[in-house]
Amino acid sequence: RVVTRFAPSPTGFLHIGGARTALFNWLFAKHHGGSYRLRIEDTDRKRSTDEAIEAILDGLDWLGLDWDGDVFYQSKGAERHAALARELLAQGKAYHCYCSPEELDAMRQAARAEGRPVRYDGRWRDRDPSEAPDGIDPVVRIKMPQEGSTVINDLVQGEVTVGNDQLDDMVLLRADGTPTYMLSVVVDDHDMGVTHVIRGDDHLTNAFRQYQLYRAFGWDVPAFAHIPLIHGPDGAKLSKRHGALGVEAYRDMGYLPEALCNYLLRLGWGHGDDEIISIAQAIEWFDLDGVGKSASRFDFAKLENLNGVYLREAEGARLTRLVCERMASEDGQTPDESAVERLGLGIDGLKLRAKTLNELVESARVYTNQRPLTFNPKAQKILSEEAVARLAAVKPALEALESWDESTIEAAVRDFAESAELKLGNVAQPLRASITGSNVSPGIFEVMSILGKEECLARISDVL
Ligand code: GLU
Repeated sequence: RVVTRFAPSPTGFLHIGGARTALFNWLFAKHHGGSYRLRIEDTDRKRSTDEAIEAILDGLDWLGLDWDGDVFYQSKGAERHAALARELLAQGKAYHCYCSPEELDAMRQAARAEGRPVRYDGRWRDRDPSEAPDGIDPVVRIKMPQEGSTVINDLVQGEVTVGNDQLDDMVLLRADGTPTYMLSVVVDDHDMGVTHVIRGDDHLTNAFRQYQLYRAFGWDVPAFAHIPLIHGPDGAKLSKRHGALGVEAYRDMGYLPEALCNYLLRLGWGHGDDEIISIAQAIEWFDLDGVGKSASRFDFAKLENLNGVYLREAEGARLTRLVCERMASEDGQTPDESAVERLGLGIDGLKLRAKTLNELVESARVYTNQRPLTFNPKAQKILSEEAVARLAAVKPALEALESWDESTIEAAVRDFAESAELKLGNVAQPLRASITGSNVSPGIFEVMSILGKEECLARISDVL
């Protein structure tokens, strides 16, 4: 049975690279009917914060990437991690190293001066512990194999090999007895029964070391899948400017979670030419053989387009609720009941034109704004003296209407334009400007029917 996990370090928000890793782990587990777990790697107590944990949990929740079972906190296992390292020590698979910081420093400098990679030289590996100097708390290091090579059959990268002479005897326990990250990851993945480790390829070099640690414990090694990182549109490492932001920043920019998931899915994974892939479809299709080997490029325009598609598909009631929430936080008050009702009627027309929720909020103001309206510069320009005179002339025809539906209003305005020998636009545009305060809106007759006769006539009178 497949078990995957997402293992973020809570040192910052859930950035989109992490969100994609979570998504791939989630999809892989769902596709194979397995489970997906969440582990917070909070062993670095100084850099881990509760706010970051909150942000990660919130981000995953917003994306809908729910995990199985309880959240696993790595720091809680510190005692067990340390005990297991001491077992390796007892078995002779690990040893105490008494190098002082100065010695290690000298080792590093010598390596640099000779142009060698910086690596611990194993000087305490075979030394008699009786030679231990006084006053130094030793670290515990693993005895790595010194000959041969370590091979990983990575499910994305293929077969990757490193010579064992490249792997130094890494530290398992620090001088204060606390476990290192490398040790904790291996023990936790083993204890959680993780079968597939899917993560960014910046962890590939760790995988060789972790592989040897599994072997030292005599445990099965999980399958690894290292996915290429996300780059900016110019191919450079993803920076803030490129979109290396927290998931909540995307929420604030007005993206829907399902659109972001679809986008992240396509960022590094493909299924033929399919671009719009629902979560249900993704669960059916997702597997690691569809993950590409090269870095993918982040493209805001693509994300926007996808978001537009998902906005059009979204339920009106849900969008109305989301728009009202945003208005409440932007304006400090929720739109009143009648405004919400109008918005509910108009939302399906509005959602056709918006690429983001923020654009939707702006366009929704046509239904929620209270009189007197403010007018954008283009609307002001439309409302010339001549245009205002046309409004005054069409107003009685509107007042006379007994029913106020879209086609009745349109017919009345057309009749008026015809009899006054005007183009429809010459009447409709001033109507739009006076009723919406803007030069753009959904169909003006639709807007008028939703706003109601009284409100429309009042808005026209305000302009007159
Ligand atoms: N905690 C690591 C990180 O946030 C991930 C470790 C792993 O997935 O093995 O980069």
